[in-house]
This record gives sequence, structure tokens and C-alpha cells, in this order.
Amino acid sequence: MICVSIGRGRHKQVVAEHRHLVEQGAQLVELRLDYLRSRVDLNALISQRPCPVVVTVRRHQDGGLYRGDEDQRRVLLRSAVVAGVEYVDLEEDAAAAIPRYGRTKRIISYHDFRKTPDDLVEIHQRLAALDADVVKLATMANTPHDNVRMLQLVKQAQIPTVGICMGDLGTASRVLTGRFGAPFTYATFHHERQLAPGQLSYQEMKDVYDYDRIRGDSEVYGVIGDPIGHSLSPLIHNTAFRAQNLNKIYVPFRIPKENLEEFLRDARDLGLRGLSVTIPHKEAIIKHLTRVDTAVNGIGAANTVVFEGEQNIGYNTDYRAAMDSLEGALKAIGKTPEDLKSAAALILGAGGAARAIAYGLVRRGATLTVTSRTFENAERLAQRLQCRVTPWERRLTVEADIVVNCTPVGMHPEVNESPYEFQAFKPGGIAFDTVYNPENTLFIKQARERGCHVVTGVEMFIRQAALQYQLFTGHEAPVAQMRQALKRATSAVKY
Ligand code: NAP
Repeated sequence: MICVSIGRGRHKQVVAEHRHLVEQGAQLVELRLDYLRSRVDLNALISQRPCPVVVTVRRHQDGGLYRGDEDQRRVLLRSAVVAGVEYVDLEEDAAAAIPRYGRTKRIISYHDFRKTPDDLVEIHQRLAALDADVVKLATMANTPHDNVRMLQLVKQAQIPTVGICMGDLGTASRVLTGRFGAPFTYATFHHERQLAPGQLSYQEMKDVYDYDRIRGDSEVYGVIGDPIGHSLSPLIHNTAFRAQNLNKIYVPFRIPKENLEEFLRDARDLGLRGLSVTIPHKEAIIKHLTRVDTAVNGIGAANTVVFEGEQNIGYNTDYRAAMDSLEGALKAIGKTPEDLKSAAALILGAGGAARAIAYGLVRRGATLTVTSRTFENAERLAQRLQCRVTPWERRLTVEADIVVNCTPVGMHPEVNESPYEFQAFKPGGIAFDTVYNPENTLFIKQARERGCHVVTGVEMFIRQAALQYQLFTGHEAPVAQMRQALKRATSAVKY
């Protein structure tokens, strides 16, 4: 279950949001009375409540807005208990002063906005001993390992426990807490009104993670990178899992470079079965893999890991997806992959995507030139693949039948930029942009206008995700649903 927190300044707004949430399917709502700016009229908030509530009056020192008298706060909490609300949230020091009464359940809570304390287990024991129906722990994640400590505690607890790590290192724990046994998780009414750092919106919990589908035996998948906040992979993969009714959940993990090794050691404790890998880990992950496919060795980068028993197996679906997309484009203009042998190609950029596509083009016999803003990077790539290199300033002078943008130039919000120029596109040639947000970048629009056949980043993105999905599940991916979800997300929906 998802408990949605409402923190508004006016009673009317709280009541309206509560109703709206129930219309959207919410089954439990936390009323954060500390946000009310006028004297609290509890009756107005709960007498006609459309679903069960948790009443919380969070003090400033615990991350709330209540700065008044502690005795008055406790009077308010007691009156909520007397009024028979379903849950009341009590901090450790307030719990003893507010005894159990009637049917109201007691959530005994603990917050630490700076760290996840070393003595988490002892803290949990103390809270559990305070006549708790539910223990709630919300602590700041300073390393990805804090999530593992928190979730293991939730799993082993004798009393129902909601354990959440705050901050962007903790996002996964908000989604996975139910997988480890928490009776509910917390979400916010709207993504722009977080009541705690890293909180996800109710809509996102529902639409992206389908939280209520998660069970104790759900298999966990995820994407690792840094940053990771804007990744669309959770949306795409969860859409596919849902479409095929698979008991699997996919979450984002922000993993700073220095934590990669530790995270991979923790992978099995998190229930992880597979990972998508993005910047900055695509190369660094290789030394932690026990088996890799040929392309990973050739490219020097992996974007997919499957955990099988003790094995960590690496793949590069970027490479296969890019080559499949390109071959689709060749077919559309009446050519075959064989024709690549007589084609001149230009790759803009020398990062991870460029390496995968360059490897594919060279293997297929194309005459390849690479160029990058930092000449040394392009030179290194050219040396590795034995292809040509040209300085960035001279990229428009290279004669190319196929030009591939492997830089982020043109990506949202810089949609009026392009790394190439209209006149430089060869009419009748192929223009391939790896940028997928937006799909119709300036590069793609100009290429089309110039009479090129285009391959968009969406095409590649969906194909690489579909290949990952197949490796994760053994099933053919529901590509149409994945594509639709991606298009919706890149056009309008912001959670
Ligand atoms: P990366 O490893 O960080 O490499 C980025 C490359 O772009 C570098 O060569 C960098 O040049 C160059 N670059 C960055 N900013 C630039 C600018 N303002 N002007 C010119 N060049 C610039 O990133 P990546 O993983 O290769 O990703 C590159 C793009 O591919 C991204 O837009 C990403 O979203 C996209 N991508 C798409 C898919 C897909 O499935 N559609 C898959 C993977 C990646 P330097 O030489 O100076 O470092």
C-alpha cells in the first residue's frame, strides 16, 4: 500500500487533496498537521474522511514545520487518537506520553536527515518496545549501502516496519521497502511538493512502479548510473513487466563511481537479477564481470549485467540495437548490410555510445571517421579500432553516407542545437541521432529536410531496452507498449 502525505497550509486544501487522492485510488493518507497555518480543526479534516489516515504533527527538529509548544502538540495527537483515526505517528520521546487507546494504531517513528546511523538495529529495538504497531525509520542515505542495511532490517524485523532511506541515493529503498516486508511506503501528492528529500509522487509510485504489484518474491532489476534521476529505463521496463504480468520490479540506483564494487557485492542481498548500466559505469563494470559476450570485449564497455547464480554476465545491447536500427534503415532504402562495406561513415563523439557504434561499423566493413570535441578522445578510439580521425572543427568537410550523432547535443532542453549542419548532410544518405529526448532533434529535422533517411534515438533506445528485457526475462519484449510509454514520457508527462 502507498501512504500519500498531504502537507498543505489550509484545511480546505487538505480536504480537497484527500478526496482527489481517493478518486485516484489512494487507500491511506498521511495528514501532516504541522503544515496547517491556522489553528488545527481536526474534525474538519477527519469527520468525513474518504479513506484511512495517519495523523502526524512533525516538529521542526524531526523535519516538520511544527514550532509550537510540545504539550499542545501532544494534546493534538491525543485528540486524534480519541477521535479514532486509523494511525497516529509518534516520535520516540512522545510515544510513552501518548498511550494506546481504542483502535488507533501506533506508528513509532525515527528520522535522521543527516545519516543512516550505525546503530539502526538498536534504534529499531527501542522503537519497537514502545508499544508499536508499526515502526517507521527514515534516514538519509549517504552511500548506496545504507539502502541495503535499511532493507535488511525491514526484512528481519518482528514488527511491521517501514524503512526508507532519504535523498537521491535512497530512491530505490522507497520502492523496494514493500518487497522486503514493509506494510506500506510513503509518497507525496505531487512531485513538486516533496515533504522529505527524495520522496516520489503518488502518480510515479503507481504509474512507473505499480507499487501495489510488488511482493516479497518479486525479482529486482535496476539501472545504475550517476546521475540517474532522469532515466526513463524504470518506466520502460516496468511498463513491459506489467504488460506481460511478470513478478518483477525495476528501480533506479544512483551509484557514485567509488561505490560500484560495494554495490555489486550487495546485489544479491537486494534481490537483484539484472542491471542496466549507464554513465559512468559502462567501462568500469567490466572488471567485475565473470563472463562477457564478444562485443563487450571489442567495445570495452557493457550496458547490461545479468546475475545468474554466482556469475555476473555482461552484454552490450547498445551495440546490437544500433546495428539493428542501422540495418533497418538500409533495408528501407533498398540496401543490405553488405552495402556498408562501400559506405563512408562519420561518428560525432567518442564516448560510450560512439564506441559501441564505431565497433559495429568497423566490423561491418564501413570506412569510418570519428571526431570529438576533445581530439585525444577521438584519436584514442580511432587507434583502438584502426579507423580514421578528424578534428571536431573539420567534421563538416568529411564526405559521409552515414552520419551518427553520439554526443548529447540537441538533447532536451537544448533542443535548438545540433552538432552538424544542414548543408553537410548528404541527400539520400542516412542520419542517425542517438539522442532520444526529444525524438525529433534539430539534427533529425535538418537531415530529413535535406533528403536523408533518418534513424532516431528512440528507435535505438527501445531496441536496446527490448534486448535487455529479453536477457532479463527470456521473453520477447512488448515493444509497442515500451515505445508508447517512452513517447508519452518524452512528450508531456512529468511526474
Ligand atoms: P559519453 O560517454 O559521456 O560521451 C559523450 C560524447 O559527447 C563525448 O565524446 C563528448 O566529447 C561529447 N560531447 C559532450 N558534450 C558535447 C558538446 N557540448 N559538444 C560536442 N560534443 C560534446 O556519453 P554517451 O554514453 O556516449 O552518450 C552520448 C549520447 O548518446 C547521449 O545523448 C545519450 O543519451 C545517447 N545514448 C543514446 C542511447 C540510445 O539508446 N538511444 C544509448 C546510449 C547513449 P568529449 O570528447 O569532449 O568528451
